[in-house]
Amino acid sequence: MSGITLDTVRKEFGDGEETVVAVEDVDLEIEDGEFLVLVGPSGCGKTTTLRCIAGLEDVTSGTITFGDRDVTDLRARDRDVAMVFQNYALYPHMNVRQNIGFGLKLSTRQTAAEIDRQVEDVAEMLGIEDLLEQKPKELSGGQQQRVALGRAIVRDPEVFLMDEPLSNLDAKLRSQMRTELQTLQHDLDVTTVYVTHDQTEAMAMGDRIAVMNGGTLQQVGSAEEVYRTPVNEFVADFIGSPSINVFDATVDGARLDGPGAFTYHLSDASPVAGLDTVRVGIRPEDITLVDDGIEMTANVLEPMGNENFLYATLGGQEITARIDPTKRPGTDETVSFSFPESALYLFDPDTGESLK
Ligand code: ATP
Repeated sequence: MSGITLDTVRKEFGDGEETVVAVEDVDLEIEDGEFLVLVGPSGCGKTTTLRCIAGLEDVTSGTITFGDRDVTDLRARDRDVAMVFQNYALYPHMNVRQNIGFGLKLSTRQTAAEIDRQVEDVAEMLGIEDLLEQKPKELSGGQQQRVALGRAIVRDPEVFLMDEPLSNLDAKLRSQMRTELQTLQHDLDVTTVYVTHDQTEAMAMGDRIAVMNGGTLQQVGSAEEVYRTPVNEFVADFIGSPSINVFDATVDGARLDGPGAFTYHLSDASPVAGLDTVRVGIRPEDITLVDDGIEMTANVLEPMGNENFLYATLGGQEITARIDPTKRPGTDETVSFSFPESALYLFDPDTGESLK
């Protein structure tokens, strides 16, 4: 087994004026046995990055190594990777046993009995041992996805590559499969790259998360790191649900003046030194309704059971706040909020980079 290293990996499609840079000089080191989640909005280059690792796309420049093996010029089938996609692509005419064992039959010289035993072991690991003689169309979505996983696991690859493998499942099954997949990956200890556009899934699953945007890697870190110390406004906005509130404020020494009644005195003005304006970010969960704070106007209250989301307006700026479920402000009611200074994010208005 081995880690994966991407060294200035670039992938362009087309030529001349039509060139699309899908992956722009990405450096990424994935540790041996790590579960790395590649996340970002549609079109950011996640799938292309994964396909480059798999060998399904040739890179335009840069190198990819597995451990100390340079695989950049190897064909997909010589890289020892197993992929699981969003559509499970099971063979409809084969039963579960044959679907799982198919790759082994092609790639190894094992006897039918040996292959059967391995298929049965993997089926048991995935809890589908009773379904071995069934055809894919007789299975639920979750069961089909398990078969697809089984087909990948049985090959005992050096690397697992997964592209939105759970997105065809309903919400409840998806969250159950997330946990199962994580447990399985840790048990098998195979280096795994998992692509999703869903930041909640990324936060829940990854040992580390790599956030991409516009073909470039924005930040790599634990869920806690990308959430609490985002490198820029894009990462702050992409990670976290509901999204962080961000607005412009003018800077006057340590004083920030934002929309409506928003005024704040920083205890330390050095992050905003030399700036006329700054982008200010506050996460919905860091806002507390208080008696004497910054006033805004309540619009809609969305009760979620154990928490309430309040949508409000602060001088024309939409603000989302996660508030104490005992507080129920009515529409157009003036409410007042505060937040701890440690929860304030400041971003450079030109570059979007974090200022502290
Ligand atoms: P999604 O979540 O929508 O699948 P993604 O982040 O996986 O998006 P990619 O599929 O990697 O993004 O696409 C990145 C960019 O490369 C996009 O602009 C896409 O249009 C372009 N692209 C991808 N594959 C090709 C191709 N075969 N030919 C031309 N352009 C492509």
